[in-house]
Amino acid sequence: MKPVYYPAADFGFDRSRVSAAALDVAQGLQDAGYDGYLVGGCVRDLLLGMTPKDFDVTTNATPEQVRKVFRRARIIGRRFRLVHVRYGREVIEVATYRAAPQGAKKNGWLPWNGRGKKSGSGPRTTEDGRLLDDNVYGTLEDDALRRDFTINALYYDPVEEQLVDFLGGVRDIDARCIRLIGKPAERFAEDPVRMLRVLRFKAKLDLEPERGLMKAVHKQRELLAGVPSARLFDEVLKLFHHAHGVASWRELRENGFSAILFPRTEACLEGPDGETMESMIVSALENTDRRISQDKPVIPAYLFAVLLWRPFQDRLGVSGDEIVHNERIWQAGDAVFAEQCRQVAVPRRVSSPAIEIWHMQFNLERRRPKSIEPLLASKRFRAAYDFLALRASIGEVPQETVDWWTRIQDLDADGRRQMVQQMSGGGGNEGGGPKRRRRRPRRRPRGARPAADRGAG
Ligand code: ATP
Ligand code: MG
Repeated sequence: MKPVYYPAADFGFDRSRVSAAALDVAQGLQDAGYDGYLVGGCVRDLLLGMTPKDFDVTTNATPEQVRKVFRRARIIGRRFRLVHVRYGREVIEVATYRAAPQGAKKNGWLPWNGRGKKSGSGPRTTEDGRLLDDNVYGTLEDDALRRDFTINALYYDPVEEQLVDFLGGVRDIDARCIRLIGKPAERFAEDPVRMLRVLRFKAKLDLEPERGLMKAVHKQRELLAGVPSARLFDEVLKLFHHAHGVASWRELRENGFSAILFPRTEACLEGPDGETMESMIVSALENTDRRISQDKPVIPAYLFAVLLWRPFQDRLGVSGDEIVHNERIWQAGDAVFAEQCRQVAVPRRVSSPAIEIWHMQFNLERRRPKSIEPLLASKRFRAAYDFLALRASIGEVPQETVDWWTRIQDLDADGRRQMVQQMSGGGGNEGGGPKRRRRRPRRRPRGARPAADRGAG
């Protein structure tokens, strides 16, 4: 298959927005006698007039050869062997051309017959056709064919300043179309995450999938259940932590993927309280999108605390004003995350602070004088307070409780003491809520340590 070459500048490709480090790596490879192209998301984003979040380079040099060209280069990865070339804080990832599975080479995409065994020179797969590794090197053409979408299979040569296009990606960018390379049945079976990528690029880039693609995604969505849960955790963060979380959420729900990724959440969404919960999730995601656009920090724990809040409440099964003990909270939290981990492996360093955010809700609501200072000093206070405000927005807690915390956090020690005194002088919690029962003597139960002591890593 012959590629088409386009002068990049003619297609709105703004070279001044390319990272100098990436240009240097591609140029350095070419100077050493190898190929050196920018590829993938960075080329796509620049052609769409967006700012890429990172830059990938591809070459015909093996990882060992690449390492010899650059002083600050390191080979990483096992499943995908790559070279990282470091420029100060920036890292440019260099990958050697990889081959597509067997049968994909000639004539575009032919039926794939390499299932379940290591066949010929193709990569290894599972019985159902899922790729196990992808370290079979190939030509530039092979490399283009094994990529997911035509818009992700464009190469930019910084020396010739031209685009190399085997599959019509330039035309598809122009038409703002997501076109899969090859047949959905095969490509989604090889790697079901590609379906999530369709949804993500649709949400992120506002592109239109080619005809029939969404139908195929919908039809094959159950394949996602076979993807290792650790990889799905990474994909979930890409969906929700890149300023297009609301759009991603809508895509997941409309296409039946929320039921696969977050079955408990989905079950609650379909219950009587579903609409309220949906509005809570959307409002949290809107807020997260805004924070990311403003370069403010966001934490995955908050995302999961929001998504799993109702499942957690259901599991806890608390009614009315009952006092809940720490141990019960942590047990219910752990159980909810253990169940969630079957689909999406949420690491302990994320689930622990999420449970802590939940745990703090009870204390933020109760406002026992002795717990005020520790709560304000907690490193989770900000997230727990935001979560409280989110709950108030759906009427789950009185807005005045949130306002109280809004006021007290800005006061000095004296001011805080006064507020606490006013509250306890007024007969317990402010706002005339129902009287609390006396708490049993406090004993720290096993398994109820805060995240800070839990070896979160
Ligand atoms: P993003 O903006 O999220 O970084 P991206 O397209 O750069 O989007 P990456 O995950 O960084 O996504 O992957 C870089 C490139 O590798 C893609 O553009 C695509 O060509 C290829 N690629 C990534 N994931 C897959 C996959 N699952 N199947 C086939 N090709 C893939
Ligand atoms: Mg990328």
